[in-house]
Amino acid sequence: MKQDDINFFKRLIYQYNLALDRSSAYEHMQKIAALDELTGIYNRRFGMQRLAEDYSRAKRSGNAFYVIMFDIDHFKKINDTFGHQAGDYVLYQIAKTIKSLLRIEDVFLRYGGEEFVAGLICKFENVIEKAETIRKEIEKLTFLFNDFEIKATVSIGISKSQPSDLLTIESLIKEADEALYIAKNSGRNKVFIKQ
Ligand code: GH3
Ligand code: MG
Ligand code: MG
Repeated sequence: MKQDDINFFKRLIYQYNLALDRSSAYEHMQKIAALDELTGIYNRRFGMQRLAEDYSRAKRSGNAFYVIMFDIDHFKKINDTFGHQAGDYVLYQIAKTIKSLLRIEDVFLRYGGEEFVAGLICKFENVIEKAETIRKEIEKLTFLFNDFEIKATVSIGISKSQPSDLLTIESLIKEADEALYIAKNSGRNKVFIKQ
C-alpha cells in the first residue's frame, strides 16, 4: 500500500471514531435528560411523554389503559426520624422494588418527591394483582441505612380508561390521584381503584 493510501485510511478511521464518540456522547446526554438523578427511573417530564405515547398506543390497539399512582406513607416522618439521606435511600430502594415488579414495557416515572406513576396496558385482574403484590412486597422490606432498620409502606391509587373513553392522560392522572387520596384516607398501605 502506498503512503497516500495509508494516510487516507488513517483519516477515515479517525473520522469514524470521532462520529462514534459524538453519537455515544449524544446518547449519554439523552439518557441523562430523561432520568431522575436519585432513583434512575424516568423523570416527570420525559416519563409523562412516554405515558401519553403508551396511552395513545393502547387506544389505537383497542386496549384498556391503567394509571397507577404510588405515594410513600408518612415519608416526612422517615426523613424527620432517620435523616434526609436515609429518606433518599428509602426512595431509591422503593423505586427499584416497584420497577423490578413491573414489566419492562410498563412506563414508570418519578412523578413528584415521594410519588411514582406507572402506566400499564393489561387486564383489570392483572392490574389489581400487580398493585397488591407491590404493596405487600414493600410492606415486607426492611431498609438498612447506617444501622437503622427502616420500615415503609405505600398507598396506591389506580384509574382506568377504556379505548372508547375520551379521557386525556391528564384526567387519568387526576383520577389516579383521587383514588390515591381515598387509599390514604382508608388508613394508608392500601390499593384503591377508581371505577
Ligand atoms: P402521606 O402519608 O400523607 O403521604 O404523608 P407524607 O409525610 O408522605 O407526605 P408529605 O407530603 O407531608 O411529605 C412528603 C415528604 O417527602 C416531604 C419531603 O420533604 C419529602 N421528600 C420529597 N422529595 C424528597 C427527596 O428527594 N428526598 C427525601 N429524603 N425526601 C423527600
Ligand atoms: Mg406525596
Ligand atoms: Mg407520602
